[in-house]
Amino acid sequence: MNIDTLITARWIIPIEPENTILDNHAIAINDGRIIAILPSAEAEERFEAKLKIQRENHVLMPGFINAHGHAAMSLMRGLADDLPLMDWLTNHIWPAESQWVNPEFVHDGSLLACAEMIRSGTTCFNDMYFFPDETARAAEHAGIRAVVGLIVLNFPTAWAENAEEYLHKGIALHDQLSGNSLISTAFAPHAPYTVSDEPLTRIATYAEELDIPIHIHLHETAFEVQDAVEKTGLRPLARLQKLDLLSPRLLAVHMTQLEQDEISLLADTGVHVVHCPESNLKLASGFCPVQSLLEVGVNVALGTDGAASNNDLDMLGELRSAALLGKAVAGNASAVPAMQALKMATLNGARALGLDEETGSLLPGKAADIIAIDLSDVDTQPVYHPESQVVYAAGRHNIRDVWVAGKQLLREGELTTLNPSTILERARGWKEKLAR
Ligand SMILES: [Zn+2]
Repeated sequence: MNIDTLITARWIIPIEPENTILDNHAIAINDGRIIAILPSAEAEERFEAKLKIQRENHVLMPGFINAHGHAAMSLMRGLADDLPLMDWLTNHIWPAESQWVNPEFVHDGSLLACAEMIRSGTTCFNDMYFFPDETARAAEHAGIRAVVGLIVLNFPTAWAENAEEYLHKGIALHDQLSGNSLISTAFAPHAPYTVSDEPLTRIATYAEELDIPIHIHLHETAFEVQDAVEKTGLRPLARLQKLDLLSPRLLAVHMTQLEQDEISLLADTGVHVVHCPESNLKLASGFCPVQSLLEVGVNVALGTDGAASNNDLDMLGELRSAALLGKAVAGNASAVPAMQALKMATLNGARALGLDEETGSLLPGKAADIIAIDLSDVDTQPVYHPESQVVYAAGRHNIRDVWVAGKQLLREGELTTLNPSTILERARGWKEKLAR
């Protein structure tokens, strides 16, 4: 049978079926989709590939799904560090944004982020920022899969004046992107403390009509929850329940403040939690009880958050932090084992975004969103358990190849769709402006 590409590798971790490691197998790809995964010797007999790629010391696995971030904020990496969330936001980030954020800023910042994400094995990202049309344009240029957030806030920014205008522009962008095979949308009300009841209720209705997810920062800090109780008499999760937002459409980002009954409520309503361990650590926001959530069946995905609060977009680093922190928070070394961490960074993200029919694991029929991680170097040898090397020892420099829908975006460490020197020149130009 004639096909486009055959990739043979030392190991494949397909994520589905669970806890599986395939030795000396190959992935057959045609028209951007996985058509078979089979022993390499058998694949050589069965398929005549236009392109044959051999990765003799590598693990192939599904690309990472960064389930929460603000791509354009990569231009604010290191602008203000070592500060608590509210001080950081109100005295540093929001003032810089009000002065500088425009379509050009978002486009340049998103391209910088796409370059970093592709180089670190991310094949899909879920974003929340102003000028999402520019983020979509950058993602399309890069060839990466993206869910762009239709951001909503109560207050005016360069993108929109009021909730009404945010919604209007968001829905227009959704219509504009319909039919795009790699870029889709989600409503992205920023947080309970920046969006009032009326727009939140409308978002619940519109999300149902358009059949898209809702992506919100929720219970990020103890201050957020306390402040909400003082102002509204309700914890934010209870308020969203009252407004009918708790459903499998909702991606609740952070969730560091959770009581036992709230964990049960998340499980009962099918809400997805997006865990951002490094942002939570850096802003001292608190700890998401990941193991407790997983034990009651809550789908927990992973995100890096923006580069201004992390400060990298490295999902491999993030999943290691999640695995380590998950054990510390649970007081249990068996919590969040390596395979679980890999699943959180891939399939769970796809599920949260409603994309699990398309991506998130290596199964015939799904899009060929694949990464190759080289384990032959001194930092990852010897190999007893490839999943352990990937989670606990490998770094993003070990990620050598990335494919999205069968198209190779990273080839032996080199970006194929983006030009780093132009991207870097633009980034340095913005730094000069923001530093003034
Ligand atoms: Zn965020």
